[in-house]
Amino acid sequence: MEYELAIIGGGPAGVAAGVYAARKRLKTVFIAEHIGGQSTESEEIQNWIGTEKIAGEELGRALERHLRAYADDVLELHIGERVSAISRDNATSLFTVTTAQNSYTAKAVLIATGGARIKLNVSGASTFEYKGLTYCVSCDGPLFAGQDVVVVGGGHAGFEAAAQLLAYAKSVTLIHRSPTFSKADKVTVESVTAHPNMTALPNTEPVEVLGDTFVTGIKVKDKTTNEERVLPAAGIFVEIGMMPTTNFVSDLVERNEFGYIKVDPRTQRASLEGIWSAGDCTDALYHQNNIAAGDAVKALENIYYWLRSRA
Ligand SMILES: Cc1cc2nc3c(=O)[nH]c(=O)nc-3n(C[C@H](O)[C@H](O)[C@H](O)COP(=O)(O)OP(=O)(O)OC[C@H]3O[C@@H](n4cnc5c(N)ncnc54)[C@H](O)[C@@H]3O)c2cc1C
Repeated sequence: MEYELAIIGGGPAGVAAGVYAARKRLKTVFIAEHIGGQSTESEEIQNWIGTEKIAGEELGRALERHLRAYADDVLELHIGERVSAISRDNATSLFTVTTAQNSYTAKAVLIATGGARIKLNVSGASTFEYKGLTYCVSCDGPLFAGQDVVVVGGGHAGFEAAAQLLAYAKSVTLIHRSPTFSKADKVTVESVTAHPNMTALPNTEPVEVLGDTFVTGIKVKDKTTNEERVLPAAGIFVEIGMMPTTNFVSDLVERNEFGYIKVDPRTQRASLEGIWSAGDCTDALYHQNNIAAGDAVKALENIYYWLRSRA
């Protein structure tokens, strides 16, 4: 069986692509380990457009219902399969997508395998995850209006998180392991640190997340003096990086230094003809549910045009 399109990934990007592919009657194989994506872990999502609030798990179920409503002889679903490799036959320009169970041949491939946040690995971090300790400022920031919060991580994402939090938090303290903030954009660092409610502590590492039912603070260590102290906080926002799920295509398409697939933001095309990518696994500047879905739709429009203009 030869498919026109293989979609890999069951988060908002993959599902949006699946729905659009079916509506365009592209012969599609849809392969995902799970449906729903990263934010199924979230207690409540308040910025999925069209829903004031929705539990992450319910969003996952809604995505699955929407996708399954289109599953038919044109859109074939393989949920529970993990793609381990994609290869290209240079003679035919066809791609082979391999899982432990099957292999699929397709003219075009959309990679929407997302990623996962790097978790804070100190005592108390897992206990208080979603009880004041969170990995998504756009998602949870407004819940901490008028309160003291801490950002862990002084790269660009950390400073962007601090900038967002300063709009509602009483105070924001950012801690960073390194002595300088050289991984963050200089202009952002300057504007954020100039805010009267902001404190940035270089050379400071997290030791323990403290709390009872919810977070009450974080114990930190000054790496110069080795002194430990407690920063009282209602919220802790961890921004120590994300790992895109792209290792299985490292030999196929160009990725940036962090492993994100490089795409043309107008079309979502990757570096190899016939491959598109969308969502959190790409080098897009921002990673959110709505962006993942929107970028996947953009990719689908371009894939449809590409397939039909070759037919
Ligand atoms: C806790 C948390 C809360 C969040 N809350 C919000 C929020 O409130 N609002 C918001 O806009 N964003 C939120 N985000 C960010 C949002 O979840 C992501 O931007 C979004 O999920 C990205 O979608 P995606 O489809 O690109 O990838 P993902 O959601 O990461 O989905 C990737 C999919 O690919 C599948 N997959 C991965 N590798 C393979 C493989 N090799 N083979 C087959 N399948 C594979 C996975 O099973 C999964 O289905 C949150 C993130 C987290 C972690």
